[in-house]
Parts: sequence; structure tokens; C-alpha cells
Amino acid sequence: MKIRLISILLLSMWIAPLILAQQTPQSLADAELPSLLGIYKDIHSHPELSGQEERTAALVAKELRAAGCQVTEHVGKYENSKLKAYGVIGVMKNGDGPTVLVRTDMDALPVQEETGLPYASKDVAENDEGKDVHVMHACGHDVHVAAFIGTARSLGKLKDQWHGTIVFVAQPAEEIGTGARALLKDGLYDRFGKPNFALGFHDKADLQTGHIGITEGYTSANVDSVDVTVRGVGGHGGYPHKIKDPIVLAAEIINAWQTIVSRENNPLDPVVITVGSIHGGTKHNIIPDEVKMQLTVRTYKPNVRERLLADIDRIAKGCAAAAGIPAELAPIVSVPKDLVALATYNNPELTKRLVAIWKKSLGDENVEIVDPTMGGDDFSEYSLPDHSIPAVYFHFGAVDPAKIVEFKRAGKELPTLHSSKFAPVPEPTIRLGIIGMTSAVLELMK
Ligand SMILES: [Zn+2]
Ligand SMILES: [Zn+2]
Repeated sequence: MKIRLISILLLSMWIAPLILAQQTPQSLADAELPSLLGIYKDIHSHPELSGQEERTAALVAKELRAAGCQVTEHVGKYENSKLKAYGVIGVMKNGDGPTVLVRTDMDALPVQEETGLPYASKDVAENDEGKDVHVMHACGHDVHVAAFIGTARSLGKLKDQWHGTIVFVAQPAEEIGTGARALLKDGLYDRFGKPNFALGFHDKADLQTGHIGITEGYTSANVDSVDVTVRGVGGHGGYPHKIKDPIVLAAEIINAWQTIVSRENNPLDPVVITVGSIHGGTKHNIIPDEVKMQLTVRTYKPNVRERLLADIDRIAKGCAAAAGIPAELAPIVSVPKDLVALATYNNPELTKRLVAIWKKSLGDENVEIVDPTMGGDDFSEYSLPDHSIPAVYFHFGAVDPAKIVEFKRAGKELPTLHSSKFAPVPEPTIRLGIIGMTSAVLELMK
């Protein structure tokens, strides 16, 4: 009996390290999923607008601390003094080695949720203009937070497989393009170390769960917000010959802008000019003094961006001159600097390295090279304007494969990100987010 006991003891001593050694990003993701699902649903039901991420940030700080990070809260310096700083930084140290930045975003959108999910958001919040708006995690930043916490927990348990420092960045205000800049302005790299690599991820509303989608080179666009005020001389709607109509002029300018895209731009350089908002006038029979427009302008290359913004200004003023608007009433075109998100560039060498590791751990068929998009994400800030910090921003699928087939068959488009009907399938999406991010970090710090 005694011999049997001793042999069992010896056997368990021999097996225990083996069990530990068997821990993988996959096994850890599976073990953490039930608890992360609870966290996900909690965040989904309590979304917070950009610059108001108080509750989410507190939850992330608590979780990062529990995962073994040294946590600093309230990081961030905004230009807009109305925004409070809810950036959370968690530093996980494990001896000498590279510094790797892992980023999630945390904010939600002013959208009224229509998913019908039992944990759908019913929350209303006051926006910047003091108006009450419905709030929803319509971009999946709640999925990102859950996967980010799962990644921190996993890497905390895999310390025998990596060396160096991981800087976990829970970034606020991605949707308004200012959060990353606010963190950097508050000394992110001076206070917590300049990373050798930066990693970010985003769920994808047209990619099946279990798949990683990745683009080499530019993956998302420069996003510029442009404000235009077209001025005229208002008056009676029945006497157009006595006034200068800014509404007709605005219509002409909008069409002329599209010729920048079709006639002035190299077709091999992707660009988008969208007028998302136009407001002018109060009544049928009054021609107003001005029309205000808001544009989003998307490009990849810095020189194309500069030229396009100059073209928008030139064409607006040229059209006004042609309409006989006096020079002192020329359109006012402004590009608010604090609303710019620069294009995200996936370092080609780093991308190849991570694709190889993902193919090995997930299977070739589960890693897709996807097209870049004209969407934007201020993750680009972390690699600095000259891309001197190699960065990769990858996508992970959020849609049930059967749903993709069903929609395709019906000739329908799946709900996009920012749609009130966007409902990622939580478990497999969060799971892959953890595995994708954890295995990428391990590759860079092994
Ligand atoms: Zn978004
Ligand atoms: Zn997003």
C-alpha cells in the first residue's frame, strides 16, 4: 500500500509539470470563456460613449490587476476639456526582453440597439451637446475588452513561455478618433516604455467566427473630418435674381467634389469623399445666408491626403467665384486637427511573421488575407507617424458561418459594424480574439 502511495505521488509529481506545460492559448481561452462571457454581457448591457468610459475602465483596471498587471488609471490628455480621461494601462513584467503593446478600445456609439438580444442595451446617455441619446456597443468594442482581459489572464499564466514587458492599453474614445492621441500626449511611451511592437485587433462583421483576417501594408484609411460653410446672400425665395443662393451653390460644389475622385485622382490610389451632413435654411420661401456641410475624407497615402484636402478647398472656392459670390464671402473650409485618424499600416515583415504563427496554431484555412478598407482606427497612432514602431492590427470573425451563407443566398447584406442590428456571436469571437492576440505576443516575446 505504502509503495503504491509513493508511486502515485511520484507519478503525480512527474505529470503535474507536464499538465502545466500543456497550457496553450487555446486551452486557456477555453478555461476563461465562461467568466469572460459574463463580463462581455455586462459591458454590452452597459455601453458608454466616447470620453465617458468610467464604468468600463474601472472594470478593466480591476481585471488587469487580478491578471498580475501594475495598473494606472485615468491616463489621457484631451484637447476637448469636456472629455474625461479614462485610459487604463496595465504593465506586466517578466524579466528582460522586448516591450509589446497590446491595445483594446472601450467606447460605444450613439445607436439604439435593435438586436433583440436578452442582454441588449437599453441605456441612454447625455452626449457632448447635452442631448440624451441611446447607446450601443455597435462596433464590438465590448468583444475587444473581453478578449483583451482574456489575453491578459492567459499571458499571466504563460509566463514560462515569454520574457519582457507587456503594456496593456485600454483606450477610450476610439470612435471619435482622439483616444490614442490623448494617451500619447499624456506620456504613454515616457511613463510606461516605448514598445518594440504594437498589436491591435478588431472584430469583423463580414468574416466568419474562427477566422483571422489580415492585410499587409495599409489596412485602414486616413480619416479627415472637414467642415464647410458655404455663404451667400439670403432673401426672398420668390426673387432669386436679387440674392446669391448658397443652397444651389452647395449642390454644385458637392457634385464638383466627386470629380476630384473620378478625374483628378490616380485610380490606383483609393479615396472617398462623402458629404455626411448638409444643413441650410428654415422655410420654403426663404433663401438662407449659409449652408453648412460635414464631410468625411478617406485616403491612404500622406501625399494623396494633402492633395485631396487642398482640392476640396480649391473647388469650393472656385465654384463660389463662378457663382458670383464676392471674395469676402468665399466658403470657409476647415479640417479640425483633433479629429484626424491616420491610416493604419501593418508592417509587412511583422505581418508575415504573425500570419505564419496563426496558420500553425489555427490551420491555414482559418487565416484569410482580407482587403484593406476605407474605415479608420486611431490604432495607427501607436506606430507613430513614420511607422517606426512595427505594428499589426488584425481582424477576427464575428459572424456565424451559417448566417453568412443564409444572407448570401437571400442576396442580402449582413449588418455592418455600427448597425443597430450588429450582433457578434460572443463565445467563438472572444475565443479567437484571445488566441490570436496571445499567440502573437508569445511569438514576439519567446
Ligand atoms: Zn466603430
Ligand atoms: Zn470599432
